[in-house]
Amino acid sequence: MTVLPAISTTAFALMCSDRIRRQWEHAASTDHLTGLANRRTLTEVGNERFAIAKIKGPSLAAAVLDIDNFKAINDTHGHEDGDKALIHVAFRLQVGTRKSDFIAQAGGEEFVVLMTGLDAASAGAAAERLRLTVEQDIFSIGDEAIPLTVSIGVALYDEDDRNFADMLRRADKALYLAKSRGRNRVELAV
Ligand code: GH3
Ligand code: MG
Ligand code: MG
Repeated sequence: MTVLPAISTTAFALMCSDRIRRQWEHAASTDHLTGLANRRTLTEVGNERFAIAKIKGPSLAAAVLDIDNFKAINDTHGHEDGDKALIHVAFRLQVGTRKSDFIAQAGGEEFVVLMTGLDAASAGAAAERLRLTVEQDIFSIGDEAIPLTVSIGVALYDEDDRNFADMLRRADKALYLAKSRGRNRVELAV
């Protein structure tokens, strides 16, 4: 008579701890605002995909996207509306990418999309489509449309990359080139 409730209590405790563990893992691997994978998960997935590219051939592309003049949106409309802009962009990226693509929020207003099976021209074209989708999908607060654009740097796996971080660094450099060339544009890394 007393054994059954004791087992149930143990099972219940295990169930709770498993749920808490899963909740903790989710919180540690995703961005709390957008629900996208965070930088920690990007590093894990990026390292895995980089290792596969090294064995199977150069079919990995990393696109680093950064919202243009985002500080001005925060300053003009407030941090809460800035957050809504981040959620808006995150959703656009989810809709505008393929299932096999991996999307992460690498930092505050910076996103990374990993794409496989594309050559340089196709990766550039895919990034250009993402840029256009963000530009054309109107973000509004109340009745006011807020212009929202992204600059994008794209790097393709290169034999000279020692690791995923090397590849990401090249994409970052291309991103800064896109910024310096006027923003709302895509640049391919050398
Ligand atoms: P650029 O075109 O050169 O990228 O200009 P920028 O204004 O977007 O870039 P900058 O690095 O000067 O500013 C980024 C801003 O992003 C500053 C910071 O307050 C804001 N930010 C970062 N994380 C968040 C967030 O989670 N929510 C909101 N609302 N703002 C954020
Ligand atoms: Mg930035
Ligand atoms: Mg920015």
